[in-house]
Amino acid sequence: MSTQRPTKRSRAAIAALAGVATVTAGAMFITSRTGSSIGRADSADSIELITATTEAETTTLPSTTLAPTTTLPPPTTTTKAWPKGPVLTIPAAGAVPVISRIATADPVVFLTIDDGYIRDPRVPELLAQFKIPATLFVNQGPYLADPDYFARVTASGGSINSHTKSHRLLTKLSASAQRAEICGMRDIIGQHVFVPGHLFRAPFGVSNTATQTAAGSCGINAVLSWHATLNDGRVQYQQGDQLQPGDIVLTHFRDDLYDNIRALIWQSAIQGLTIAPIEDYLPLPGDG
Ligand SMILES: [Zn+2]
Repeated sequence: MSTQRPTKRSRAAIAALAGVATVTAGAMFITSRTGSSIGRADSADSIELITATTEAETTTLPSTTLAPTTTLPPPTTTTKAWPKGPVLTIPAAGAVPVISRIATADPVVFLTIDDGYIRDPRVPELLAQFKIPATLFVNQGPYLADPDYFARVTASGGSINSHTKSHRLLTKLSASAQRAEICGMRDIIGQHVFVPGHLFRAPFGVSNTATQTAAGSCGINAVLSWHATLNDGRVQYQQGDQLQPGDIVLTHFRDDLYDNIRALIWQSAIQGLTIAPIEDYLPLPGDG
């Protein structure tokens, strides 16, 4: 790990985090489509079933996106002031949209964590320390191995959502089989938490119209893609070299998750962004 400290400019940005929001909105968009969709960072997702035990140690990383090993910016104590931008109202049935970014000028990004195979006990502690919400997308096996762990991960906000029961490629399945995978997993979550999350992410980020219809049939109101990823303790961007307001950030329950979240905390602080609950931006009809 690098121990490089932030640049003068970065320190100034972090100082600004405590008081003055410095971020102005860049170009923002929301993806809503009814055809086949393939996540652009699906190479990251495609290896998620592999238990990677060495990748974090063996990769040489650029220093600019790494969190320092010893110091993180202080937790924000700013009173919540959002959502104040446009809030999307989306249907709770029918072919629900696929969303890779939230169209908002609010200085927020969203942390999403998939699968569940490696359950690092430091992760819920870190999220609690920094009061960070996390939106989880879990599969049956790892979720049922320790449902309480995932409840602790979402103790500071967020939700636990379906990522299908068995992590199969949905576009190879019939509509009814997709529904069993998507809605069956939501039912399982509902046996352990009071309210299962109303979002869905497709395995490998690959979905089609049948996926969107199946999700809408059981109370899910959006299929989430992503616009940035966290791997090996660094932030990887799909656009430019910074996070964009409204970005949905994808990472996984792997052995690099703790370092990944630290990297996101650090990069967000540098940019004056807050890691916010995406559920506030995608409410169910009738909610707030
Ligand atoms: Zn996955």
